[in-house]
Amino acid sequence: MADIFIWQQNLWQKLTKRAELPGHALLLKGKKGIGKYHFARCLAQFLLCREPLPTQGGRKACGHCPGCGWFEHGSHPNFHAVLPEALTAETTEAGQKEDQAEKTTETGAKKSASQQIGIDQIRKLNDFVYLSGHQEGYKIVLIYPAEAMNSAAANALLKKLEEPPPHVMFLLVTHQAQHLLPTIRSRCQSIAMPVPDIATSVAWLTQHNVTDPEASLAAAGFSPLPALLFNEAQQAGYYDQFIKLISNAKRWDPVVIAAAMPQTDVALTVTWLQQWCYDLISYRSTGKIRYFLNHVTAIKDVSARMDLHACLAYQRILNTRQQLSRHPLNARLFLEELFIEYATMIEPKRS
Ligand SMILES: [Zn+2]
Repeated sequence: MADIFIWQQNLWQKLTKRAELPGHALLLKGKKGIGKYHFARCLAQFLLCREPLPTQGGRKACGHCPGCGWFEHGSHPNFHAVLPEALTAETTEAGQKEDQAEKTTETGAKKSASQQIGIDQIRKLNDFVYLSGHQEGYKIVLIYPAEAMNSAAANALLKKLEEPPPHVMFLLVTHQAQHLLPTIRSRCQSIAMPVPDIATSVAWLTQHNVTDPEASLAAAGFSPLPALLFNEAQQAGYYDQFIKLISNAKRWDPVVIAAAMPQTDVALTVTWLQQWCYDLISYRSTGKIRYFLNHVTAIKDVSARMDLHACLAYQRILNTRQQLSRHPLNARLFLEELFIEYATMIEPKRS
């Protein structure tokens, strides 16, 4: 089976050394990008494995028995994962792709896939949880991310959690536990998922051949898995392009920069803008920056020219736009508007 991330090993040992997991529902909660989904899948495989092996202080799936074989091929009859349509297309066994906004239909056309988990998906669980499984032992339902359930779906799940069917283990994974129904939270055993410290993340990224792990980590909000993805995006050149265009004070063209950004992942550009503004404000007030560590000169230059209050206001705009950026009607226009507002912010007198 796949290895547990190093920062999750203590928790893993604690959970797997016991004869059984606590309760019938676990809520794995914590910030995005720290490998919660990966951990939940490893736990599911472990619970379905017929011959778990002892490890230092705990146990793990053997990787060879029929249970492990079916699980790894995605065909275990006692395992059911519930994800938004937008994620099912591209959720890798490593759990590193935490986002996928589009999917390709049979005709090859791209259409927006749902970001929600709907009630039909929860209803479909009925046969699985209430009728007998094909195998003995646990039946496992993995819900990811749990906050993607709309309210009808959440209420339908709540009924199942209130009268738990025998031998069913629910694994709920969430980036935002506060957005779940309190009644759902109270029916689950909550587990705060460990967050790796910077040194651990940097070591892990280095192992994965990331050339500048500190910068990748900072750019990805200090979460190691997005930092790995970020590294790929950086290789694609967008990030460099972003910095080059946005820090060029003399030839600043919102339309050009909007066109140069990835149109399929608008949220990524909004995140970079949020971080850029964070650094501008932080540099102005404390002389320190957090994200664009290799670009102090550019930050210093822009920070000196901008209107601080306008930048604070712009940051608030970015926060609201971040929520809309998953499904912009027109990616190019969405970005152009953002960069035009940015231009107004750094050069208030520009008409
Ligand atoms: Zn096994």
